[in-house]
Amino acid sequence: MTIPSANLKLDEFMQGLVKRNPGELEFHQAVEEVAASVIPFINERPKYIENRILERMTEPDRTIIFRVCWEDDNGQIRTNRGYRVQFNNSIGPYKGGLRFHPSVNLSILKFLGFEQTFKNSLTTLPMGSGKGGADFNPKGKSEREIMRFCQAFMTELSKHIGENVDVPAGDIGVGAREISYMFGQYKRLKNEFTGTLTGKALEFGGSLIRKEATGYGCAYFMEEMLKHQGDSIQGKNCIVSGSGNVAQFCAQKIMHLGGKVLTLSDSSGFIHDPDGLNEEKLEYIIDLKTNRRGRISEFAEKYKCEFHEGKRPWAIKTDLAFPCATQNELELPDAKQLIKNKCKAVAEGANMPTTKEAIDAFHNAKIIFSPGKASNAGGVSVSGLEMTQNSIRLSWQREELDERLKVIMHDIHQQCVNHGTDKDQVDYLKGANIAGFVKVAEAMMAYGVI
Ligand code: NDP
Repeated sequence: MTIPSANLKLDEFMQGLVKRNPGELEFHQAVEEVAASVIPFINERPKYIENRILERMTEPDRTIIFRVCWEDDNGQIRTNRGYRVQFNNSIGPYKGGLRFHPSVNLSILKFLGFEQTFKNSLTTLPMGSGKGGADFNPKGKSEREIMRFCQAFMTELSKHIGENVDVPAGDIGVGAREISYMFGQYKRLKNEFTGTLTGKALEFGGSLIRKEATGYGCAYFMEEMLKHQGDSIQGKNCIVSGSGNVAQFCAQKIMHLGGKVLTLSDSSGFIHDPDGLNEEKLEYIIDLKTNRRGRISEFAEKYKCEFHEGKRPWAIKTDLAFPCATQNELELPDAKQLIKNKCKAVAEGANMPTTKEAIDAFHNAKIIFSPGKASNAGGVSVSGLEMTQNSIRLSWQREELDERLKVIMHDIHQQCVNHGTDKDQVDYLKGANIAGFVKVAEAMMAYGVI
């Protein structure tokens, strides 16, 4: 006999989750954002309630926490904490980035791993979800210290990953340099050359377009949302936050699509260039942040524009906004400022950069808003294409990959429209959450109780 299940209630569901995961504020925030839109959907479909799918989906398959010991340049022993959260492998091997930042803790990695479940599902590619990293601060470390840390980190992580098991990539603080050191160590330990990490250099299995993919995909997604309204990026003022991998290439694609990029930022403040970026200025930023690891204020000094120390760019008048730095960097007062300045649309390049209150304000003001799980999915999508190229031992051309990226972003947009349209208005958050949920939920139910 099937026991009839009561409808899920958001408050009760969240109370249970908070009790099971005390103090994990970012994880609570990410789950609540999803639960708020999928619970009404679930309540109309008893199979998801009977199978306790949301409860199961909010519990990672496993969480691995380990000590990472390494020696600094002065011969001192340093200890950091490493993590890998293998969240859900229902639709493919665990897949998600590694973050090296002093703020890294279990809550942040669980929020990122949970978000990744929906994002990877939306990409249409066979990828499960995971996230990992360490509370290691790469800033101010020498090249050799970074190498020793990456090798020590991979010595333990290598026991838990593999091309058909778990395929990590980069994230904040983990770029091509760190991936190369980790891939080298993995290869040394396992004595095999397999595509177990993505974001590799082109010489050893990397994919063209990977470094551009998250930022380009975000701009493509914004273009799709505007196209849906009969509009485009052409001629629009745009503000971008961050100046790392995602921000750099989001800015570049905005420029290609005819938009004007007025701002970029880093953890010390933001620059405002009323003339807009151009390719030369962007080259300077890429060299500054990727190679020289300098501060964004150096751009303001060189190009004689404003630098606002300790501030975020949201008060600058704009048509479009692209938060591309980090979580919770766009709060309610920032959203109010954007609304007052008649901003038309916001596309998240970072993961969860917008707080819940700010998202609610955008919805109430009918500002088009896309969550990162939809608009920043281009990165993991091209990572998925890197896995495919590694498996078939072929490298696709840049044009082919860019075309595939565009098609994927178009498909993600379409899924959001299909699941999020109400009275001609698209709620992209709801659409992305429900579309991402359905695919994983169906796979989980097909496997039975595991
Ligand atoms: P990078 O490390 O390349 O750049 C991060 C940028 O954000 C830097 O400009 C950094 O400033 C700034 N930043 C970091 N922490 C803070 C903070 N606490 N306050 C203000 N600014 C901060 O990372 P990515 O560009 O790769 O990642 C950016 C975001 O995009 C993250 O949320 C990440 O999870 C997400 N993302 C990344 C993907 C990728 O492919 N790389 C894929 C999907 C999502 P500073 O230089 O001062 O540290």
